[in-house]
Amino acid sequence: MNTVVQLCYFVAAVLFILGLKGMSSPRTARKGIVWAGIGMVLATVATFFHPDLHHAVNYLLIILAIAVSGGLAWWSGKRVPMTDMPQMVALYNGMGGGAAAAIGAVELFKAVSQIGATSAQQLAAQKDLGLEQVEQFAAGHSHVGSLLGADHAVLGISGALIGAVAFSGSLVAWAKLDGRLHRNQLLPAQQLVNLGVFVATVLFAILSYYTDGSAVIIVFFVLALVFGVFMAIPIGGADMPVVISLFNALTGLAVGFEGYLLGNPAMIIAGTVVGAAGSLLTQLMAKAMNRPLTNVLFSGFGTATADAGSDPEGEMKAIQAEDAAIMMGYANQVVIAPGYGMAVAQAQHKVWELVELLQERDVSVKFAIHPVAGRMPGHMNVLLAEAGVPYDLIYDMEEINAEFDRTDVVVVIGANDVVNPAAKNDPSSPIYGMPILDVAAAHNVIVIKRGKGKGFSGVENHLFFADNCRMLFNDGQKAAGELIQVLKKL
Ligand code: NAP
Repeated sequence: MNTVVQLCYFVAAVLFILGLKGMSSPRTARKGIVWAGIGMVLATVATFFHPDLHHAVNYLLIILAIAVSGGLAWWSGKRVPMTDMPQMVALYNGMGGGAAAAIGAVELFKAVSQIGATSAQQLAAQKDLGLEQVEQFAAGHSHVGSLLGADHAVLGISGALIGAVAFSGSLVAWAKLDGRLHRNQLLPAQQLVNLGVFVATVLFAILSYYTDGSAVIIVFFVLALVFGVFMAIPIGGADMPVVISLFNALTGLAVGFEGYLLGNPAMIIAGTVVGAAGSLLTQLMAKAMNRPLTNVLFSGFGTATADAGSDPEGEMKAIQAEDAAIMMGYANQVVIAPGYGMAVAQAQHKVWELVELLQERDVSVKFAIHPVAGRMPGHMNVLLAEAGVPYDLIYDMEEINAEFDRTDVVVVIGANDVVNPAAKNDPSSPIYGMPILDVAAAHNVIVIKRGKGKGFSGVENHLFFADNCRMLFNDGQKAAGELIQVLKKL
């Protein structure tokens, strides 16, 4: 049976890798998700037949837990609006880290209970040992590290630490994305407090290796959870994508480590794959923000000084849908720069209808996608794919930036931070240094948004006050609808 189980784990691991490969392109992403899902089901079912699964294991409880949590995930996954997807991703990511930490906790407490087994019979029963072996065993296994073995103990404790940090940190990220926690927040002397908690957590991680009691392990877990919260609290502003991908990478790593502790190859491979993918994404996101990771984690950027930056000069100039549609209808090239507001308005279908009308009039239309537009990596690509926009109309920031000065009209729909020239021109701005879509270089810019609301980072946008910029104040979907009506009559 063990060979069959190991074979299932191997197939599951291959499916995870193929799944991840599929997810690298919007064309194959759906197939990739299905493959990874089949891999997960296979690995879960195979585990029920694992020879190490003790006869004392309560199958009913396990099945009940899988049914309840699986049912909840299915139900919430079906009804979650697209705009709440980033929160959901943060939450599920946190659950992964929490599960890894829970495995670590169970194994550490089990080890402690074996060390502390008061009677020789108890220990003999737990370890399947003969009575005379017990004395020997107890003498050579006086703390967690010696009982579990150095490699298992170190990886188990590290996995528990990383998993707990990813769990509580992801919950803070979820609360920030869901608007339940203020995005730009600092505790007094935050960096110093963080450093103190971090050092204490590592110290208790080391002590957990040498302990023979539960108290140290409990303090270790509490500290790790607190550190996760403190690590995520000061990160706000435009930096959230970096930290979300970082927690994703940490969750993968924690799962991989705990997989080693359990001797479960499917967990090791799945964890490593997620850890590697998450690390690459973290690097990409940090690069997109033009900031080293250490700077994101330790500078409290976009928090204390979020409302800093110089005040813009001039005033916003409004435009009506009729005039905006005429400008677009008679242009040679129009570039659409979507942002989070397009997701809120669910305007992607109307936007694509608008683009098709422009194309019928021989206007060249392109989409400009900033890597951190929206609230999750790839957010805009997902929305545009859902609306059926062909991939060859979609351009990355680096590709499109050189084209703006040859563009007649840029339509910014629900984007703010990712088109804010303060990031380029204003050293006093908290978002200074972040690369942006250089839309101000176009001949005309039309910005569709509901009012004078700021972007995620809470920074005023100088673009809206520029001479070549006109504001079309409306909900994204309604504005696109009005533009369509006018264009149809042109
Ligand atoms: P943004 O800076 O958050 O701005 C969105 C704008 O959309 C707002 O100014 C809002 O203005 C407008 N809006 C909201 N609802 C709308 C509606 N129904 N119709 C039309 N407009 C609407 O968005 P962004 O430019 O896409 O920038 C993304 C930001 O989120 C960056 O700071 C990024 O770092 C951060 N972030 C990104 C990720 C990621 O992975 N992509 C994750 C977390 C955070 P009004 O209120 O005036 O309408």
